[in-house]
Amino acid sequence: MNDEIPRAKFRASLVRWFRKNGRDLPWRLTRDPYAVLVSEIMLQQTQVATVIPYFERWMQKFPDTQTLARASETDVLHAWQGLGYYSRARNLHRAAQAIAGKYNAIFPRELDVIRELPGVGRYTAGAVATFAFDQATPVVDANIARVLARLLDLQTPVDSRAGGEALWKTAGELQPKREARIFNSALMELGALVCTPRAPKCGQCPVAKFCRATNPESLPRKKPRRKTVELLENCAFIFSRDKILLEQQTNSRWRGLWKLPQLDAPNGEPLLQSHYPFTHHRVRLSVFATSKKAARAHCKWHAVDALPAMAAPHLRAVATLLAKRGVAAPVASL
Ligand code: SF4
Repeated sequence: MNDEIPRAKFRASLVRWFRKNGRDLPWRLTRDPYAVLVSEIMLQQTQVATVIPYFERWMQKFPDTQTLARASETDVLHAWQGLGYYSRARNLHRAAQAIAGKYNAIFPRELDVIRELPGVGRYTAGAVATFAFDQATPVVDANIARVLARLLDLQTPVDSRAGGEALWKTAGELQPKREARIFNSALMELGALVCTPRAPKCGQCPVAKFCRATNPESLPRKKPRRKTVELLENCAFIFSRDKILLEQQTNSRWRGLWKLPQLDAPNGEPLLQSHYPFTHHRVRLSVFATSKKAARAHCKWHAVDALPAMAAPHLRAVATLLAKRGVAAPVASL
């Protein structure tokens, strides 16, 4: 389709709109590749409004790769607490260590070298290359995928190999040689503000005349979802003298974080039940009052006003149960 698009006119319309309407997001005000990487990793699976305060606190605490590389994993996980998907924080930590060590604290500029950093895939590498170094390289995130699928009226699922390739190819063909940073930001911003998942504002769209979509809300198409499977998680609430017993996790998702101790044989009615998503699972967390005998290996007492980095669903459960006892929630923004 983009063969038929007058590319120069398309870019000019989009960029003109962006210069007038683009938001001053904190990571757009910097060309520091480390700051761009931090923002991109945080923005994976997390809303912009949630990320902004985390990003600002993070950049104060770990202003450069050397500072982050030197930090302990406990400090890193604590700063990430509440954002979820902790493997992102661990990868960011490892990426900083690689840059500080292997590259003498000089952020690499080459796309294929950036892509070798831990936790950095095709999109993130392209985002750092274009937003920090202004390189003319395509980026396709969820916002851009939606805009392009609609512009192309693409009926192939965007999460299929063929659909993905069509999007990356189009994104590459639309790239300007100069000021790619602005163009990619503009395309992304169009998806965030105008070409939204529901009720796209086609009447206000600066590129409407280039768009082929007849039923934009039906796009992008995706492969059918896997069925959600419910998992049960039973845990113990053991609280004494302003201290709570927690269990440190050793498995990959939560490794290093603390949770309420697992309970193999729960008894009686739960004090609290909640749900949280985990890939294609829905976990039902039930918390039971139990005696200290339930303590398992890796369990330790923690003062409630100095809790370690915890898995977010468990931190929320602890805050709720402590609030019921008149004890202040351990973290203000859960
Ligand atoms: S015209 Fe509508 S569907 Fe097409 S790109 Fe603009 S907002 Fe999206």
